[in-house]
Amino acid sequence: AVINFGSINVDHVYQVDHFVQPGETLASTNYQCLLGGKGANQSIALAKAGADVRHVGRINESDANFKQVMIKHNINCKYVACTESPSGHAIIQVTPTGENAIVLFGGANHEISPKDVMAALDGAKSSDWVLTQNETSSIDEVLKQAKEAGLKVAFNPAPMTDSVKQLPVDCIDLLIVNEVEAEEISGHKDIDAMEKYFHANWPNCEIIITLGKAGVCMLKNERRIEVDAFVVDAVDTTAAGDTFIGFFLSAYSEHTDAKTALTRACAASALAVTQVGAAQSIPDEEQVNRFLAK
Ligand code: ADP
Repeated sequence: AVINFGSINVDHVYQVDHFVQPGETLASTNYQCLLGGKGANQSIALAKAGADVRHVGRINESDANFKQVMIKHNINCKYVACTESPSGHAIIQVTPTGENAIVLFGGANHEISPKDVMAALDGAKSSDWVLTQNETSSIDEVLKQAKEAGLKVAFNPAPMTDSVKQLPVDCIDLLIVNEVEAEEISGHKDIDAMEKYFHANWPNCEIIITLGKAGVCMLKNERRIEVDAFVVDAVDTTAAGDTFIGFFLSAYSEHTDAKTALTRACAASALAVTQVGAAQSIPDEEQVNRFLAK
């Protein structure tokens, strides 16, 4: 199983002719209220990839319908608690050219305590993986307690903040970053220099660097495994990374070899970028199998 300590956001998406200007009141031409957050998106991708996934998170009572959406996706939500604090949420403006501007409020996502981490890890098996991103509280506790419990730990430091560098690196088995995050952690733009940095500073950790339409590179046991992206007509790259992580970890946690797992994840995320939206753009196992069979 994969135990994901992750954000659950309510995304308020407003279609606008242009981004609202200082002092301006702007009428939106369309509005949608959707389940979002990197944590929830990655749990949905894991579930759609066929993984047994347990989500750990917090949401306001009035948004319990989003917990139902997650349960419908076959995510175990026993440790998704409803609280009185406002849910994490994003106010998203989208222009006709597809550009976006986002205001984010962490809210209930920051209410996961060290005690909650302990409770959620109770009964975990040594074959289980723990996954977390950088949108919830007590991340250092998640990493430490998971490692102490003998579990495998995957970390996606998104969105990147300075605090990531203070986290206990030796608790992490698998780091998954995009090019920008890899650059911010390593201080290098060039892949060879990044590789040297990670070997020196994260010696016991496998590193996956996703490279957008250039594909992905994995650093594993002194080896570099590269997989090209699939060529598709991209219309919206939202949740490409989340889809990649869900499909990769679903396969890798079940002992699929790295190259095969990377290829499946590239196929799934290529399909995701051909669709508009976040969670609704994530394909399922069957769609990925059909795409790979072509
Ligand atoms: P993030 O969304 O976190 O910034 P990336 O942009 O690196 O992450 O995308 C993650 C993965 O999604 C890539 O490794 C690639 O396999 C796939 N992907 C992203 N953009 C495209 C694209 N334009 N065409 C095909 N695959 C893509």
